[in-house]
Amino acid sequence: MIKYMRLVRFLKNFKRDAAGKILIGIMSVSCGFFQAFMVAGVVAAVLHNKGNETILSYLAGALISILARAFLSRYNEGYSKQMSAKVKGAIRTELLDQLMKLGPAYQNTRRSGNVQSLITDGVESFEAFLVNYIPQTAVVFLSATAVICYIFSLDQTVGLMIFSSAVLSIIVPHFFMPAVSRVMIEYWQSYAHLNAQYIEAMQGMNTLKAFHAEKKTLKQLKADSDDFANESIRNTGISLADSALIILLSVVGTSVSVAVAAWHTSLGMLSAQELLIILFLAGECMRPLTDLNSYWHASYLGLSVANQLFAVLDAPMVLEQKPEKETDHMKNIPPDIELKEVTFRYSEEAAPALSEIQIQIPRGKTTAIVGKSGSGKSTIVNLLLRFFDVNSGRILIDGIDVRDFTLEYLRSKIAVVFQETYLFYGTMEENLRMAKPTATMEEIIAATKAANVHSFIQELPDGYQTMVGERGASLSGGERQRVAIARAILKNAPILILDEATSSVDVESERLIQQSLSALMKNRTTIIIAHRLSTIAAADRIFVLNEGRLWEQGTHGELLEQNGEYANLIKIQQRAGRLI
Ligand code: ADP
Ligand code: MG
Repeated sequence: MIKYMRLVRFLKNFKRDAAGKILIGIMSVSCGFFQAFMVAGVVAAVLHNKGNETILSYLAGALISILARAFLSRYNEGYSKQMSAKVKGAIRTELLDQLMKLGPAYQNTRRSGNVQSLITDGVESFEAFLVNYIPQTAVVFLSATAVICYIFSLDQTVGLMIFSSAVLSIIVPHFFMPAVSRVMIEYWQSYAHLNAQYIEAMQGMNTLKAFHAEKKTLKQLKADSDDFANESIRNTGISLADSALIILLSVVGTSVSVAVAAWHTSLGMLSAQELLIILFLAGECMRPLTDLNSYWHASYLGLSVANQLFAVLDAPMVLEQKPEKETDHMKNIPPDIELKEVTFRYSEEAAPALSEIQIQIPRGKTTAIVGKSGSGKSTIVNLLLRFFDVNSGRILIDGIDVRDFTLEYLRSKIAVVFQETYLFYGTMEENLRMAKPTATMEEIIAATKAANVHSFIQELPDGYQTMVGERGASLSGGERQRVAIARAILKNAPILILDEATSSVDVESERLIQQSLSALMKNRTTIIIAHRLSTIAAADRIFVLNEGRLWEQGTHGELLEQNGEYANLIKIQQRAGRLI
């Protein structure tokens, strides 16, 4: 019940649309009633041998109401489509907004396909309940009350009987809800699982093909989709069972009431015309009720999925947001950064990704963090950007705990070039502008020139207006990386982080990028993460991580002299013939 009310609250900004829906519903039901009176009139006129004129005028009335109803039903279709687009849009916006706030720390623990199903089909499934069922309850309430009162005034017994069968056919389906809900949730889970499998199969197509694993995956998908088919059958079965019962209830209810009315007519308590009116009206009165029930059916899935929606909306913020405490003290001077005894694990069961890390990053200098893959380098970036919060210890920027900044302020001060660059579906210019929405074209071009990607973009079919694919698929790793560097240059933040930024760039462009990067790094606090060590030999200070622990630190020369882990990494790379 609480769940229903909470779903209904999504309609609060659409009161006018809902009122319109109710109005259309009432008008359509009124046409039905009018038609019932007219048809009863025709039959009575024929029975009582009234003139042709009377019969014809009743017939004309019936025809008009049939036409009006047909028109209303067409209009209602379009109206409902519009309303549901608005309502679903609002729910999706709220959901996405929440997911953005929850950030990667929340996404991390969930399969992306499941959240995706919720945003697309999950939200779709609320339509029946919000756009059809809820307004229809008002229509049923108003119209059934009117009809029942009218019939009651003609014949109290019949009125009461129709009233009880109406009430029963509204209440009974709700008793089925717990059982139906279980089946529906299983149905939904099986659907979301299947969807996640498909998404993974599509995204990982290259890998699957390269390993000749597509047959196995297809087999798995087939098994999953068979499971889903079984769930669908179960789900249809239970829906049919309860709708059959409801139809039975309303048919039996109406027939018995009409039978009683007929009996009363034979006793002379009702006139023939009144009997006819009761006959037609009882049918008309049940019609919105039958609609209501079919909407209720269509709502099952949505009502079951609502739990998942609320689970996301109610998910506790992984990161606590501090209220504003902004004195824009990072204005021009690049800040220093300090990690104090930082320990962090991604989940309670996982081994710590970082253990008691103690790192000092001086202002305006270039600091390098190196280590084998999986040693925790990117985790430091995640913590600095507050995608996650430390489990213990502190991260200080200019002596202020990162948790004391607002997320927005903190992130506006850090430009990152990640290992993986995401280009969004849109033009190249839009993708660049993301870093600074107010940038002029000159600024954008200055940035792309500095990142050595300007001439590449110019050679694209539409230059800066070229659409880049969903995953920037039409760009090579190196090109994408240079676009990312241009974004970072454009953002012009006092802290710059390069997380293996040049790892997928060929040696020639790396040399070019290196030049522009050194210009960019000037007067900024820069953190370079690399496993290609050529890029970090010149860093002011180097920290070596190993399995989440700080292993060594010093300058390139000092570390080579120590002949420890760093020297070891260098040797490995030299052997691989890649260094410098
Ligand atoms: P590096 O950048 O040095 O290659 P990471 O910081 O990415 O290493 O990873 C450190 C450890 O944390 C690894 O064991 C990795 O498996 C784990 N890890 C990294 N990211 C996540 C994540 N989002 N969720 C769970 N574990 C993660
Ligand atoms: Mg990494």
